[in-house]
Amino acid sequence: MYGLMMDYPLTLAQILEHACRIHADKQVTTLLPNGTLHRYDYATLYERVKRLANVLTELGVQRGDRIATYASNTYQHLELYYAIPCLGAVLHPLNVRLSPTQLTQIVREAEDKLVFVDSAYIAQFQALRDKIDSISTVYFGLKSEDTDTCYEQLLSDARSAYTWDIRDENSAMGLCYTSGTYGEPRGVLYTHRSMFLHTLAANQADVFGLTEADVVLPIVPMFHAMAWGLPYASMFAGADIVLPGAKPTSIADLIADTGVTVAAGVPTVWAAAYPELRKRRANIARLRRVIVGGEAMPPALIEAYETELGVEICHAWGMTEMSPTGTLSKLRAGHQNLPDTEKWRIKAKQGQPIPGVELRLAAETTDGFKELPWDGEAIGELQARSPWTANRYYKIEPTPEHFTNDGWFRTGDMATIDAEGYVQIVDRAKALIRSGGEAISSIALETTLLKHPYIQEAAVVGIPDEKWGERPVAVVVCTEEADENISATLEKQLISEFPKFWIPDKFIFVDEIPKTSVGKSDKRAILMQLTGVQTALEKSRIFSPTEKK
Ligand code: AMP
Repeated sequence: MYGLMMDYPLTLAQILEHACRIHADKQVTTLLPNGTLHRYDYATLYERVKRLANVLTELGVQRGDRIATYASNTYQHLELYYAIPCLGAVLHPLNVRLSPTQLTQIVREAEDKLVFVDSAYIAQFQALRDKIDSISTVYFGLKSEDTDTCYEQLLSDARSAYTWDIRDENSAMGLCYTSGTYGEPRGVLYTHRSMFLHTLAANQADVFGLTEADVVLPIVPMFHAMAWGLPYASMFAGADIVLPGAKPTSIADLIADTGVTVAAGVPTVWAAAYPELRKRRANIARLRRVIVGGEAMPPALIEAYETELGVEICHAWGMTEMSPTGTLSKLRAGHQNLPDTEKWRIKAKQGQPIPGVELRLAAETTDGFKELPWDGEAIGELQARSPWTANRYYKIEPTPEHFTNDGWFRTGDMATIDAEGYVQIVDRAKALIRSGGEAISSIALETTLLKHPYIQEAAVVGIPDEKWGERPVAVVVCTEEADENISATLEKQLISEFPKFWIPDKFIFVDEIPKTSVGKSDKRAILMQLTGVQTALEKSRIFSPTEKK
């Protein structure tokens, strides 16, 4: 028997309509390249999104067409986040940090029809444009060359009336490629329904908990897993939005000047911003929460933000394939009386699955997968399913390497789950170090190294070794206070926590750790630099290595 309720499609047009009708006066603020702030309200955004829909229609965009963006976090990019999907086309944000060769392959595979380019990236875009010249380009900002089309001019010439006609919630709304840290970049095609449900989940009090009173700053780029869904979650909540543009000189200034209450980015962003935020503590008093993900957040940094700055850290785990949010680490009511060290230990875990996400810990056997216990000890592959998890990659037949026969997505992350359901990521399956047949967690070693006050950054990789298969080597960035005894000090610190065979054979001191295109430690690049040879992993990649910034 079917229920008697409306079959109401879950589309992004509902989010836009609700946000702009109920919260018309809410502000969108963008830091411009010249350092000034551009501001307008949701009502203005609404009118511009409708004009943009007319522009896209005039340019021949049809339902299902892929429309690329090559842009930073700005109000124009936000307008495209709504106009493209709401008229039935597919938003495809390109990762501006990938090389032109990588992007050319991605653009060809996606068959993008148009690309919108940020004025901040016009020079950098030329290398790509030369390779994909079949695609029409629209530039933000004023561009004098007559072959180029200017965004603002198109908008001002367009009509402001447009009626959304998107009814099928299973239509594609966005295409994001994985960053390709382990394996070639693969396209993930989100639907209106998946993004709508992810938005509702993100806005729950115990998830990101955004409210109408918030001022939300996504530092996470809009090309990285749809900026973690924040452009949709913020507007559905009716929050003010602050967009940092291409290169904010000071995150602390931006937070202070615009009264940000919730900000989001990868751990390296928060590690770098900490000293300045600390200096400006009095000016950032409104900042109540920082959402961190993409890499493990070191416990010492969580503690510093929470105790020194009074900012709650929401440590989340997810993947492009999961829209991206999968788990979130928050203390439960029953944890409040634990000693502080125990609290930081729990918060540094990747946390519990958010409502709507199902996880299992699995070990592969000859006849399928065996579920492992949630005892905080057993290490297995994390597998997931949810209404916002991919069931295949764009233009790639599903393979058992990524999707199980019984309907689970294989994340490729090795983890433990404790009795309370807190996930702890041990490593990417492909990054787990195997020494003498035993597994060594690079993340666990890095987390302990980062507890030392003189260590700014740490990355542990497995170097091929004739006797043991692989041996760990630690690459670290120290503060100026570190002296010549630092290797011995670090070794001592690790010996107190780990078996002897886990201790890295070498500590290598560098000025900077190479980063991937989304700001995480680039272990492939480190391995290449240390061994001077292409690893099997490297050889298996279709795309060329990410360019170093
Ligand atoms: P991406 O698709 O670029 O967001 O990368 C997803 C991968 O980043 C995951 O499979 C994890 O390996 C890693 N990751 C994301 N969040 C975390 C976290 N909080 N702690 C550790 N690893 C993480």
